[in-house]
Amino acid sequence: MGRSRPIVAIDGPAGAGKSTVAKRLADVLGYVLVDTGAMYRAVALAAQRVGIGWDEAEPVGELARQLVARSALGFERDPERGVRVRLDGADVTDAIRAPEIGMGASTVSAHKAVRDALLAMQRQAGRSGGVVLEGRDIGTVVFPEADAKFFLTARPEVRARRRFDELTARGAKVSFEQTLDEVRQRDEQDTTRAVAPLRQAPDATLVDSSEIGIEEAVARMAERVRAGASG
Ligand code: C5P
Repeated sequence: MGRSRPIVAIDGPAGAGKSTVAKRLADVLGYVLVDTGAMYRAVALAAQRVGIGWDEAEPVGELARQLVARSALGFERDPERGVRVRLDGADVTDAIRAPEIGMGASTVSAHKAVRDALLAMQRQAGRSGGVVLEGRDIGTVVFPEADAKFFLTARPEVRARRRFDELTARGAKVSFEQTLDEVRQRDEQDTTRAVAPLRQAPDATLVDSSEIGIEEAVARMAERVRAGASG
């Protein structure tokens, strides 16, 4: 209560089309977009830059706390990129999308101290509603009380194909096999970790974008949010 506009949670594995779907859904509904993966990526990048290993739980946790405390992470809506990300004022929107930073984000996000540091930020960003949050644990941990929850997925081969196309379009030199390997490895890391593992909330609607495609997924989700909001 005290919130008249819905909170929409979108969770799911890497490469399911989550970023595109979340961006379009936020546009269609006129909601704010919160990309929580970008927050973990920014922490991974910051750690790399100061020479802290991603698997060093304590120093990375402390770094994440400091970044949040001094408001070093900035997020602005960008019509093209979804969200523009700043680290200490510098634009790191492209830097955080490097495949190795994706792996780094997956590693740093397994540390409880890192998750705790970012949790407050995520709740703050979503609390007043009229917001689409995308991540891995939005419907299970960040906003279990979200008004609409979706679990967006697709077959690993479909997800790898999308990621591969995206990377090669940006000039990255990767093979499809390598991309598929990374997708599987990240799934494994994200679903088996002790803290906030990736799983579908019991009350989330499952959307498989390998069956229906991105546009159809967005249309169905928007319809569902609107039905819930008016009912
Ligand atoms: O979605 P994206 O690929 O940008 O996320 C990068 C990594 O951050 C994921 O592999 C996942 O391990 C982690 N993450 C998370 N919880 C979230 C969002 C992202 O653990 N809510």
